[in-house]
Amino acid sequence: MKRLFRNARWWRDGEPFTLSVVGGRVSRWPLSEAQADEVVDCHGSWLMPAFVDCHCHILPAGLDMKRPDLSNCNTREEVLRVVQDAAAEGEGWLLAVQYDQTRFNDGLHLTAHELDAVTAGRPTILRHSSGHAAVANSAALREAGVGANTPDPPGGTIVRGERGVPLGALLEGAMELVYRVVPPPTRQESVDAIHAVAKSMRSMGITCATDMATGSRGLSEEFEAYRRASESGCAVRLRTFILWGRIFGKRGEPDFHLEQTPMLRNLGVKLFADGAIGAGTAAMTEEYATGGVGMLIYEPDDLRERVRVAHEAGHVVAIHSIGDRCTDVVLDAIEETGDAARHRVEHVMLLRDDQVERIRRLGARVTLQPEFLLTFGHAYFRQLGEQRASMLKRARSLADAGITIGLSSDRPIVPGDPWDGIRSAVSRPPGFHPSEAITVEEAIDGYTVCAAGVNDETELGSLSAGEWADFQLYERDPKGLDAQPVVTFLAGEAP
Ligand SMILES: [Zn+2]
Repeated sequence: MKRLFRNARWWRDGEPFTLSVVGGRVSRWPLSEAQADEVVDCHGSWLMPAFVDCHCHILPAGLDMKRPDLSNCNTREEVLRVVQDAAAEGEGWLLAVQYDQTRFNDGLHLTAHELDAVTAGRPTILRHSSGHAAVANSAALREAGVGANTPDPPGGTIVRGERGVPLGALLEGAMELVYRVVPPPTRQESVDAIHAVAKSMRSMGITCATDMATGSRGLSEEFEAYRRASESGCAVRLRTFILWGRIFGKRGEPDFHLEQTPMLRNLGVKLFADGAIGAGTAAMTEEYATGGVGMLIYEPDDLRERVRVAHEAGHVVAIHSIGDRCTDVVLDAIEETGDAARHRVEHVMLLRDDQVERIRRLGARVTLQPEFLLTFGHAYFRQLGEQRASMLKRARSLADAGITIGLSSDRPIVPGDPWDGIRSAVSRPPGFHPSEAITVEEAIDGYTVCAAGVNDETELGSLSAGEWADFQLYERDPKGLDAQPVVTFLAGEAP
């Protein structure tokens, strides 16, 4: 198929632009109208490469789309009403998302008893929007065998009342006590969830997304779901990073097989090296305003060993690192592989000047999620104080040092519209220092060509000759930051 897209304008300078697509790729030689099988008149639309979301969670985001969403509930009564309506509709486990008790007047968690009154006996869990807490009802606690005599698991807290009776709230590692007894989605539910979120991402201009924790509920099963989705007309290209423990750890599944195609590819192995700022678990050199310095998930020697094992097995390693103390340890680990430029550091929320310089010298790649500043700003200011929080996500310093920054969303932690991320990177939200802002062109590059680079895509991101023709059209100049794509093409095809 030969397609000629004429009468467009190039997004960067508004100059007239024509795109010739042969076999889904940008042609090296411009097609004439006579040579084209189809001529598409773009009517002066602005044409831009499609977005690459190089750090998100595809299957979890898709599963969340089918769950009761509490993000608009600002009182306990509103939460209970949504849960009651949802409970009346089906049977079995009820898993709601985007619960946040800090929006309530008293800031207090709901209790299992309050939930029992509206859930008709269905085991129910409300997951906190931060992902670091949940509230379970009595039926869920019972199914999980969590009672007054259950000890707190390592790194987790069961919130308790009189005589040690669980009240419902489960913090950090304690959540897993209940989530692990929830029946996993069927394969068809997983495939449907991937399709649903892919369709939603495509409508936002995305044609390639990277799942950053593949295998949390079983690697071969998740790979099979991604493979089936990619073979049944998935709306975006799928990329995966396997959780380290899934191939090297005790629960490892070394026998998995994943075919690599332009629509589906595994990119490497993922490790978590610390926690999150809102929960006070990201590892900092300076104390939190609320006390403590956070925690490293692995001792430095242990992390180095894990990175070495993955590196020597030929994998790119992507490491979640939020606090500056953690990033020191992570940079040590990837430097020791002798090929730091091959590996990725995810989030790097808090960076000292010497660390920016070190990342430059090592040639490591980083990803940033500017939308976090919009969504979690209040928690960052509370945890770090205004001054330190104001310097989170140092996009300007990283860009000036010539470091490749992939912008990304981390959905479903945030809604994930790339334009929200771009707007946040360009005009930092109130309280965040404007000296770390980047230009709109840099931010768009961050979500297209640089995200593709961080992802090791050799055939995506810039619409150079020979690349896949993944692009989006806008009715007006997208650099005005107030437009949504009219249509997004993948390999020259509209959805
Ligand atoms: Zn993530």
